[in-house]
Amino acid sequence: MNVQCCIFCKIIAGQVPCTKIYENEHVLAFMDAGPVSEGHVLVVLKQHTTRLDLTDPLEMAELAKVLPKLAGSVKDAMVADGYNVLCNNGSSAGQVVEHMHFHIIPRKENDGVFNQWPSFQYPEGKADTIAEKIRRNLTL
Ligand code: AMP
Ligand code: ZN
Repeated sequence: MNVQCCIFCKIIAGQVPCTKIYENEHVLAFMDAGPVSEGHVLVVLKQHTTRLDLTDPLEMAELAKVLPKLAGSVKDAMVADGYNVLCNNGSSAGQVVEHMHFHIIPRKENDGVFNQWPSFQYPEGKADTIAEKIRRNLTL
């Protein structure tokens, strides 16, 4: 998907309508059109990137500046017990719109929205091996 046919770029450009929550020079927040709970909000950068790891850290910092207050306002407005902040990266992770975005999903106790967190235990030594692999790929 390129910028010309990106639905979120079209929303940012005002070519496709959205229910806007907040906008500044870098960021747009709007209601998700297919919410998983009432009050589900999307937060996007105006600069098109497909994934979090391909996003300029300085742009990401602009998103981070407003994310806490946006999350708090969603939680308070919906009288939610909590919320999930999600960023799906890649189709294997559930990403459908290839313009990097964060979901703010208000949650109530026992709402059943995400029922399963499929955790498991590493066999002895495997976490260390994987951590070493990740450290080798980290260029900060
Ligand atoms: P993801 O699976 O992380 O890529 O999530 C994409 C999200 O964008 C979904 O929750 C959709 O409901 C939402 N979405 C897609 N098109 C629109 C649109 N035109 N306006 C608002 N939300 C949208
Ligand atoms: Zn885009």
